[in-house]
Amino acid sequence: MRIRKVDGVCRQCGGELEIIDADDATMDVECLDCGDLCVLEPDAFGDGCVDYYIPFMASRAECHD
Ligand SMILES: [Zn+2]
Repeated sequence: MRIRKVDGVCRQCGGELEIIDADDATMDVECLDCGDLCVLEPDAFGDGCVDYYIPFMASRAECHD
C-alpha cells in the first residue's frame, strides 16, 4: 500500500513510500526509490491509523483467512 506524498516521504531521499508489512504495533515501510526500510508506529502519518494501517491490516487478514 503506497503512502501519499502529502502524508509522508522517505527520510533519506524524499521518495515515495510503501507499506510492506505490519503487525499489532508497527508498520514496515519501504522507499520505492532508494529501498530504505524503516519501522513506524501505526499513526506515523498523522491519519489516526484510518488511511493506511487499518486498511492494510484488513486487506492482509483477507488474504490469509
Ligand atoms: Zn528513499
